[in-house]
Amino acid sequence: KLHNTILELKGNIRVFCRVRPLLFDDGADHETKAVSFPTTTDNLGRGIELLQHGQKHSFTFDKVFVPESSQEEVFEEVSQLVQSALDGYKVCIFAYGQTGSGKTHTMMGTPGNYDDKGLIPRSLEQIFEAKQTLQNQGWKYEMQVSMLEIYNETIRDLLSTTRPLTESSGTKQYSIKHDANGNTHVSDLTILDVRSSREVSFLLNRAAQSRSVGKTQMNEQSSRSHFVFTLRISGYNESTEQQVQGVLNLIDLAGSERLSKSGSTGDRLKETQAINKSLSSLSDVIFALARKEDHVPFRNSKLTYLLQPCLGGDSKTLMVVNVSPAPSSINESLCSLRFASRVN
Ligand code: ADP
Ligand code: MG
Repeated sequence: KLHNTILELKGNIRVFCRVRPLLFDDGADHETKAVSFPTTTDNLGRGIELLQHGQKHSFTFDKVFVPESSQEEVFEEVSQLVQSALDGYKVCIFAYGQTGSGKTHTMMGTPGNYDDKGLIPRSLEQIFEAKQTLQNQGWKYEMQVSMLEIYNETIRDLLSTTRPLTESSGTKQYSIKHDANGNTHVSDLTILDVRSSREVSFLLNRAAQSRSVGKTQMNEQSSRSHFVFTLRISGYNESTEQQVQGVLNLIDLAGSERLSKSGSTGDRLKETQAINKSLSSLSDVIFALARKEDHVPFRNSKLTYLLQPCLGGDSKTLMVVNVSPAPSSINESLCSLRFASRVN
């Protein structure tokens, strides 16, 4: 079966697939790996095949990264997109996939391990380097960051210093507004000026700590919420009087795994419903945009509504679909690959 991706329709939307290496914890040997690559269908590194119950499923993406692909190789394919935020584009890069498929590794990497740095730190380094270079051409840039998480359809400010220590007490209702210029305003959200990638790294650490406050199982929690990192870029060229306003959104999505409905009750069920709702809304929005439909259902979830100005128009979107090669994950891997191939 050949599943076509949104390639033919895509416009400013691109989809990459990344298969992480088989890990010791996957409890399987390499002979039985579920995902095989590259496919025989092309040698451009765009095809991927997956065997399930003896049936072969083939997919094509803009790019497929194999387990051996390094963080650097992944970033190479993304760096132009990141650069376009300095030219005034609104950019969104999403990491999609089940928990344990490598989303956070792709976005953040391993803290402290230079070679393993993910898209977020690499993007920031590139942007602040480019800012220096562009200064020689008369450009002055101002950068601001915000970091938030969306958990159960509720926004939480990860840079707030006055954040309540427990989740339940005094949660603010952050409301989202878009102005006529396509700028998004989230009431009460902390937005900080930043001048270097080191400053942003410091804030990323603070946000990571903020995510874990009051939780017993940080990993568990983070996999149930969407992490949204936003860098706003305003540029002004004194000699040409040109002005640009770019936005770079880097999003580590909640785990896409389908929890069995019977097994989840109470808070867990509510969480699951919220995640399913926002991930399916995201897919609805992306496909409506790809098909250039008149009505794009941005308002169906907090995530899509928040990102509305950065998803439509001439903005640029990249979805990185992360998959695990473990045989035990085959059903989820297939779901993830299909998520990006839904047009058929
Ligand atoms: P997720 O955020 O999707 O839940 P993680 O990024 O935490 O998944 O990855 C799960 C585990 O797999 C982590 O231990 C991570 O270090 C490892 N991992 C993920 N992708 C890779 C990769 N490309 N190379 C090496 N290890 C990886
Ligand atoms: Mg994660």
